[in-house]
Amino acid sequence: MSAYETAEYYFDQSARLMGLSDNMQRLLLTPEREVKVQVAIEMDNGEIATYIGFRTQHDQARGPYKGGLRYHHEVDQDEVLALATLMTWKTSVVNIPFGGAKGGIQVNEKKLSPGELERLTRRFVDAIHDVIGPDKDIPAPDMGTNAQVMAWIMNQYQKFHGFNPACVTGKPTELHGAEGRDEATGRGVGLMMMQLMAKQKIDPKLQTVAIQGFGNVGSYLARYLYDQQVKVIAVSDAYGGVVSYEGLNIPKLWEYAQQNGSIAGYPESEPLDNKSLLAIDADFLVPAALGGVLKVDNMKDVRAKYIIEAANNPTTPEADRYFESKGIIVMPDILVNAGGVTVSYFEWVQNQQYFKWELDRTRREMDRIMTESFEKIWEIATQKKISLRLAAYFLGIGRVGKATVLGGI
Ligand code: GLU
Repeated sequence: MSAYETAEYYFDQSARLMGLSDNMQRLLLTPEREVKVQVAIEMDNGEIATYIGFRTQHDQARGPYKGGLRYHHEVDQDEVLALATLMTWKTSVVNIPFGGAKGGIQVNEKKLSPGELERLTRRFVDAIHDVIGPDKDIPAPDMGTNAQVMAWIMNQYQKFHGFNPACVTGKPTELHGAEGRDEATGRGVGLMMMQLMAKQKIDPKLQTVAIQGFGNVGSYLARYLYDQQVKVIAVSDAYGGVVSYEGLNIPKLWEYAQQNGSIAGYPESEPLDNKSLLAIDADFLVPAALGGVLKVDNMKDVRAKYIIEAANNPTTPEADRYFESKGIIVMPDILVNAGGVTVSYFEWVQNQQYFKWELDRTRREMDRIMTESFEKIWEIATQKKISLRLAAYFLGIGRVGKATVLGGI
């Protein structure tokens, strides 16, 4: 099943539950604009390399399109559309005034030099600058991109449109970025886990967690859980994994990862491959990297009681159904990882007002918004006796549907 078919499946399930007409379903699901452009750059060795860039704008009934930009060799139009759709429901779940979009370039970004990455980013902005902007569509970091890439986007966009820091979020704090944007997604995931534990009446200090991915999301999540005294026993990244049943010392692991470019080989632990991480005996399993990792092939190996979707689209429908039948609780991506776009919203607000918030304020406001969304979703799930995913879609799609009807065609 492709990434988009997965997104469509979850939409269909909820749409049926909501009793949406076929016409309304088609209207809500069809993307408003899909852009596909050539991005040609000169490599450091003087040769020309040509890449394909995408930007898909799914829905803007509730506000300007919003969503990340992914640099990865597996990026394609289907995946970008799936992720753009998820952004529409995600911004709606946390009730921030945006629609949904996603972009990407099909490239193995790890193989590019900083100069090549910069040229790639600037050429991409040259190709799409007319369809993005502070009131049109606001890109942000995603897999393979970071604050530096956002700084190049802003700089290149401004060459066409003048000073416009709100045209992109996730920028460096020295260049109109919000304090706390970096940690926001991981911190939000941690917060959602703590709230789930409170609802389940379980003691955080007695729980164990395995995290797949130690990038922006996984690393800040591990740090947050460590501070809350929740035991993170296993972590993996693209190069390998580590396990320690007494709990990993996350600040030390951070330092090691920073020095070595990976957590693989971290001394105070045993090595672990990615496949074994998904099957490890931990209470919480957190996929925090690629999509589609929990599927028919490995769903029966999962031993966790809770799956926390820090990544976008990590669970295929077959695996989702299986987990539900086994009583494994899945917390859905469109709630769990919404902290990132929530703080992107704060950055956009600050840029529009030329006013900078302190980190404390960002954290407070994010916690408030995510807690409210969690409580609403929990209530819907309990009242209707449905999964948290269906409840999140119910809330997200419901708001977009209402805005669409109110605005009219
Ligand atoms: N890429 C992130 C996501 O998937 C953040 C998007 C944003 O901040 O606009 O939610």
